[in-house]
Amino acid sequence: MPADSSKPERPPRQRMPEQDAKVRAGNFDEVALGFTEELAIAEASRCLQCKKPKCIAGCPVGVDIPGFLALAGEGKFAEAAALLREKNSLPAMCGRVCPQETQCEGVCVLGRKSEPVAVGRVERFVGDYVLGRGDLKSAAPDGPRVAVVGSGPAGLTVAGDLARRGYRVTVFEALHAGGGVLRYGIPNFRLPKTVLQAETDYVRGLGVELRLDAVIGRLYTLPQLLESGYSAAFIGTGAGTPHFLEIEGENLNGVYSANEFLTRANLMQAYRVGEVDTPIWVGDRVVVVGGGNVAMDAARVALRLGAREVSIVYRRSRTEMPARAEEVAHAEEEGIRFEMLTNPTRILSDGDFWVGGIECQRMDLGEPDESGRRRPVPRPGSEFVIAADTVIIAIGTAANPLVQQTTPGLAVNQRGYIVVDNETGLTSLPRVYAGGDIVTGSATVIEAMGAGRRAASAIHEELS
Ligand SMILES: Cc1cc2nc3c(=O)[nH]c(=O)nc-3n(C[C@H](O)[C@H](O)[C@H](O)COP(=O)(O)OP(=O)(O)OC[C@H]3O[C@@H](n4cnc5c(N)ncnc54)[C@H](O)[C@@H]3O)c2cc1C
Repeated sequence: MPADSSKPERPPRQRMPEQDAKVRAGNFDEVALGFTEELAIAEASRCLQCKKPKCIAGCPVGVDIPGFLALAGEGKFAEAAALLREKNSLPAMCGRVCPQETQCEGVCVLGRKSEPVAVGRVERFVGDYVLGRGDLKSAAPDGPRVAVVGSGPAGLTVAGDLARRGYRVTVFEALHAGGGVLRYGIPNFRLPKTVLQAETDYVRGLGVELRLDAVIGRLYTLPQLLESGYSAAFIGTGAGTPHFLEIEGENLNGVYSANEFLTRANLMQAYRVGEVDTPIWVGDRVVVVGGGNVAMDAARVALRLGAREVSIVYRRSRTEMPARAEEVAHAEEEGIRFEMLTNPTRILSDGDFWVGGIECQRMDLGEPDESGRRRPVPRPGSEFVIAADTVIIAIGTAANPLVQQTTPGLAVNQRGYIVVDNETGLTSLPRVYAGGDIVTGSATVIEAMGAGRRAASAIHEELS
């Protein structure tokens, strides 16, 4: 059949310029360089403007995706940003780190026959466009006071949404800088600290007070906050307690949890190689255990801090890997080795209490387990050793427990996560809400933000 010449051909998905893999493996500058105005307009114009768009439902915070793409397609970037920010206070960050392939872009109709619209890349362009353009007006809310514990994406979203509605919000953050995992977990080459700072400043510009170095459960307890005049509280303390493998040799020198490794690199600024004297040590041969975004980040940071060989050991296959596809591809391009279907059995000493290697076993895939992914089954007699000086464990995390331990009557589940009503985020205590990783376990930035939005609406309903 001849092609339908009446339909104009849709342009292909626009490529985003990137730093060359060999160059970027030696620096902490951002890998993806972002769209130009022309590329952003061309990409946004690919949107079909569906009558019943699936992408909005695919976004946990419900951004009007066709709406902002239509404005961006006309070059109205400030208007597009204003529309985005109605639902998402942190678009420059989400454009960089959201797993779009499983959310908005995963359900884009264009993706059925060709490639979906690069929603995240246009979002990033539009978010960046308004950062630093002098639109950070400070508001002075005068409504009831609300306390937010934790300044990660969940806490910042609740705070921004409530401040916009006139509440006086104070965010209490345990660390000396705000942003949660966005600050201490995700490295500069994926999310520059300047972008994070500018978006955090945007939320502060809405009138939110950010109190740093304030550990709730130590400085004040949550009940004390409520007694001191806060009408409601939101707990967004995240899940930052690392899991370990519990195998022989895990206490040798040179073994890190990914959490410690990335916190040293980010918060203690090891990324400023040669400028900052930071207590971090990376040997020549690094093995990272795990298959999520955390493992990819740790491996790529180790490479940038001078390791000669970096391997990722993952017990399932590529298909089951939870890391974003883009991050896996970037890691591969930079020369990180992948040992799939491989599981560590013990960490070996060099004879002087330092890591000398890691013994692993090959795995096969069995039937699906409760997570729906095929279960890894050890292959007997397949043990082998990878030479290593450093081992970084990135196999997941558990709930941060302090607020639960110091708040009588706060219901938690068996694993220590806070139990809430899914629609509202309300906990077992009146006027106390929770959301993000401290409820779901380690998930995604946008899911934490979605929980923050729902809780902000529920708090507003309760207090108005
Ligand atoms: C290395 C890494 C890479 C990741 N990459 C991605 C990615 O690419 N895309 C993606 O979508 N997700 C990614 N994630 C997951 C994502 O970052 C989290 O799901 C998200 O940050 C959870 O947000 P949150 O607000 O619930 O908690 P967090 O971001 O963990 O923030 C919690 C905050 O609460 C503070 N806090 C804890 N206890 C107290 C207390 N007692 N008093 C005061 N403050 C307290 C903490 O210091 C922290 O700042 C990644 C996670 C990690 C660790």
